[in-house]
Amino acid sequence: MAEPVPSGSDVSAGTYMCTSCSHELEIGSTKSLPPCPNCGNGEWHTVRGGDSVKDPYPDQR
Ligand SMILES: [Zn+2]
Repeated sequence: MAEPVPSGSDVSAGTYMCTSCSHELEIGSTKSLPPCPNCGNGEWHTVRGGDSVKDPYPDQR
């Protein structure tokens, strides 16, 4: 499950954590992940939301 998501990936809205400095980033709308604004790292762990097929509540509003 803990597969890092590279920056530039198309992702859904959710919360992502930098694999390098643990900076958390919230993506509010569907777009590409940027590099970490804190350390410039380009990989993210999905904290919640995102593209996970295991998300039990897809698109809940
Ligand atoms: Zn970082």
